[in-house]
Amino acid sequence: MAQKIYLNGKLVPREDARISVFDHGLLYGDGVFEGIRAYDSRVFRLSQHLDRLYDSARAIALKIPLTKKEMEEAVIQTLRANSLKNGYIRLVVTRGEGDLGLDPRNCGKPAVFIIADKIELYPEEWYKKGLELVIVATKRNIPEAIDPGIKSLNYLNNILAKIEAGLQNMPEAVMLNKEGYVAECTGDNIFIVEENVLITPPFYVGILAGITRQAVMELAREKLGLLVREEAFTRLHLYNADECFLTGTAAEVIPVVKIDGRKIAEGKPGKITTRLIKEFRDLTRKEGTKI
Ligand code: PMP
Repeated sequence: MAQKIYLNGKLVPREDARISVFDHGLLYGDGVFEGIRAYDSRVFRLSQHLDRLYDSARAIALKIPLTKKEMEEAVIQTLRANSLKNGYIRLVVTRGEGDLGLDPRNCGKPAVFIIADKIELYPEEWYKKGLELVIVATKRNIPEAIDPGIKSLNYLNNILAKIEAGLQNMPEAVMLNKEGYVAECTGDNIFIVEENVLITPPFYVGILAGITRQAVMELAREKLGLLVREEAFTRLHLYNADECFLTGTAAEVIPVVKIDGRKIAEGKPGKITTRLIKEFRDLTRKEGTKI
């Protein structure tokens, strides 16, 4: 069956899903997006993803031409049209078609498109053996310039970090903020375990407020009875952590076993990480908006 894309209110075949070369989303990365996941005919934390999308849009003064309810229906409609029970949903709102100048006042209506596709799963081996990371020279954007809390189409900061990791044949990069505090990875939030306390960088360090991050903090408190702290820490804490893992919609919970050539503890996925991987997978099958 040919893939159907939601584009400005219509479901169109993939070949017909086209955006103008004058769209400011393309010309300037001027727009916002979300990456959402469906499990067994349920969309995981859809309302939280839509809240983040609308908050990001408000922050860049972009008025989304649909209500949240209409957007929710558009997501469900797209999944149904593609007969997807499990999948990845990319929801994009651009500033729309404008001229070659920067001024968003010269743009027409924002463009809204939704792509529902099969999820490209990470290799299962990564979950069993864990990832190796490198800390890269590219700093996370400073919140006073482009706040990393805005999930905008301008991902060049993260792409530059990903290039650095790639040049060292590493799957993922850790980004520090300007002050040297650990922020996040290029598309995932980061956690460490120190003496049975789960620690993750707070928003003010300059991170995206991950939906998976939030779910994992809840699980750690409610299911594992752990203390969870949002606290700034430096790379020294990464090297000396008892455990380390990343969270994100695509990755879910993924263990980290080596950073900058230093083994994390014994260099194997930790006990708490392993439990959280399972708890998170269970949660994704239990809750969510029905397709
Ligand atoms: N940080 C960044 C920079 C991201 O792009 C993402 C989403 N891919 C995340 C963290 C994780 O957020 P979520 O759990 O909502 O997918």
